[in-house]
Amino acid sequence: MGYTALYRKFRPDTFADVKGQDAIVQTLKNQINADRIGHAYLFCGTRGTGKTTVAKILAKAVNCEHPIDGNPCNECATCKAIAAGSSMNVIEIDAASNNGVDNIREIREETTYSPTEGKYKVYIIDEVHMLSIGAFNALLKTLEEPPSYVIFILATTEAHKIPITILSRCQRYDFKRISILTIADRLTQLMKEEQVEVEEKAIRYIARKADGSMRDA
Ligand SMILES: [Zn+2]
Repeated sequence: MGYTALYRKFRPDTFADVKGQDAIVQTLKNQINADRIGHAYLFCGTRGTGKTTVAKILAKAVNCEHPIDGNPCNECATCKAIAAGSSMNVIEIDAASNNGVDNIREIREETTYSPTEGKYKVYIIDEVHMLSIGAFNALLKTLEEPPSYVIFILATTEAHKIPITILSRCQRYDFKRISILTIADRLTQLMKEEQVEVEEKAIRYIARKADGSMRDA
């Protein structure tokens, strides 16, 4: 058995388990329930506040065969393929190492083909502020006329570096730093599930040190 980092093991796979971002989660669930999903989302906020986690849950929920109140079922073939990273419908790109215009042109070409399974192709572009000017311009062309089956989720810790032309095409969500109390509650819950005995004082100390980041905690 390989070692799984704790933040991966405990990464929420439903919106209900995402703590401290209630308004964002509720808005997204409403959109899924009403089948009014946007084509471009911008998730902003400091590290460890749930941007990538929420992006992955959203990617599953829009493709899920049997969504439950806006949540992915995590049981159907589509959910399982996405969770395993083997789905062709969910593409994660790290803009820090793929920041050139050619990288984005490649994506643009791909988006001309509709998904072979499921409803949506979801592109999650992490650290999107790292894209070059040329890459942003190429991305803008796609955001201006997105195919109906494409969803972009752009994530960034530095929203002020995103060109206004891109911002104006996205639904923006600002992820808050997570409160000490919320982090402590989640840690307590997880330790109970793991049957680990831990002093309340220790939980509070870690929650405080995490400085708003659930992942760090
Ligand atoms: Zn499912």
